[in-house]
Order: sequence, then C-alpha cells, then structure tokens
Amino acid sequence: MIDSHCHLAGDEFTSDLSEVVGRAREAGLSGALVILGAEDVAELGRAANVSSAWDQVRFSVGVHPHQAGQFASDPAKAAQQALSAIEAQPLSRAVGEIGLDYHYDFSPRDVQQQVFREQIRLAGQLRLPIVIHTREAEDDTFRILDEENATEIGGVFHCFTGDREVAQRCLDIGFYVSLAGIVTFPRALELKEVAKMVPLDRLLIETDSPFLAPVPYRGKRNEPAHVARVAEVIADLRGTTAEAIASATHENHVRLFNP
Ligand SMILES: [Zn+2]
Ligand SMILES: [Zn+2]
Repeated sequence: MIDSHCHLAGDEFTSDLSEVVGRAREAGLSGALVILGAEDVAELGRAANVSSAWDQVRFSVGVHPHQAGQFASDPAKAAQQALSAIEAQPLSRAVGEIGLDYHYDFSPRDVQQQVFREQIRLAGQLRLPIVIHTREAEDDTFRILDEENATEIGGVFHCFTGDREVAQRCLDIGFYVSLAGIVTFPRALELKEVAKMVPLDRLLIETDSPFLAPVPYRGKRNEPAHVARVAEVIADLRGTTAEAIASATHENHVRLFNP
C-alpha cells in the first residue's frame, strides 16, 4: 500500500519522524509520495531526513497555490524555483502540488493561474506527472489543463472533493483521482459515490498528512499509516477487500509516478 500524498517533511513530524515511519511500515505501507513546497527552504532541507528515515519515499515538488502570491511580480520564477529544487532532489518524481485554490484565495487568482501554468509547462519539459490541488476552481483548472495540453503530461487530482461529474472530467482527460480521509466522513455522501464510480485502474489513495485525519482519528494529526482506513472505507463502499484496493492503487501509483 502506498500513501500517494503526504507532507512528511513538514515541521509537524520533526520530533517523532522515526515513530511515524515505523507505524507506516507496520500498517503495510511500502512507500509514500512526499510533497515539498518548492519555495519552502526549511521543508526542502528536511526532505533528506525523511528519505534517510524511510528509503522508499519519493518526492513531488512544486509551488502550492497558497504560496503563488510570492511570485506575483514574476510567475515564471515559481517554475524556476521548482526546477532548481527538483534538480537538487534526485528522488523527485512529480511536479506538485500545483493548482488553484479559490476557497481560501490566499493568492490573487490571476497569479495563481499563471504560476500553475508555468509549472505545468515545466512538468512537460521534465516529462514528470503533475499533482493537482484544486478547490472551488474546477472550471479554470480544466481550462488551463486543456490549454496546456496536460493530457499528454498526466497526473492526479489529489484529495479529490468534487462530485461525480467533476470526477468524470478528470477521467476524461486521462487523470487519476486520489481520495483522502474525507471519504470516511459520514456526511461525505457524494464523495462516497465518487469512490464507487472511479474505475479501479484510475484510483489512488492518500492521507494528505498532517491534515484531514480519517474517522476515527478526526481532529488529530494525520499520518501515513492511516491511509489503511481510506482503503478500508473505499473497499466497503465498492464491496471488495481492502487488500484489493491497496494492490490496485499501488499498481496505479507505480504506473503514474514510476517511483
Ligand atoms: Zn492540496
Ligand atoms: Zn497536500
């Protein structure tokens, strides 16, 4: 089983990283894709601790939409910064998380769009898949992906929270849909429908640790071991076993990220 999206190099994990990794291994995880903020020097530095504590981790590096505002005067610089961080980290396997967040609007929308666009182009040049973060911004996200020919690049919509129609749009452009702990929340009825409709060969599972702990850990710091709960809940919804979900999503992860 693989956690396809977590922030293990975040400062939330500095004090007990080896215990967190130990619990992940015990839970049956064979690896994780760890997200690094390309502009976050401290986090990029902690990546080495993570890969020495857990040699199967791989990294995805990008400027998150929340940080896009730092590049308002020169959006191309976001992609340059991502490039130099990727070049400095030999275990990089993807560009992300990148995208648009109109829920928080921490960065001006036009800047978010330009920073997103520049990083999609970078991924195309590097032949790396992209990890997309999109919130309340579906139409602009799909428009930019279309304009930048992202189908040829490929990637995943991480922590998917849309409805079945949005999921279908992801699938139509050849992307994967990744479900996080939200699918375990009792009220996430539409997301449970999404969990049933995504073809098994296009599904990924993640924790987005330290955020979004699944039931029954809600409100606590999340960690990669809890991806097992996501697999269990999806398995129940689909009438299959957690092992079947784990192995299919593992296979998909390997196909997409070539870890
Ligand atoms: Zn995200
Ligand atoms: Zn994330």
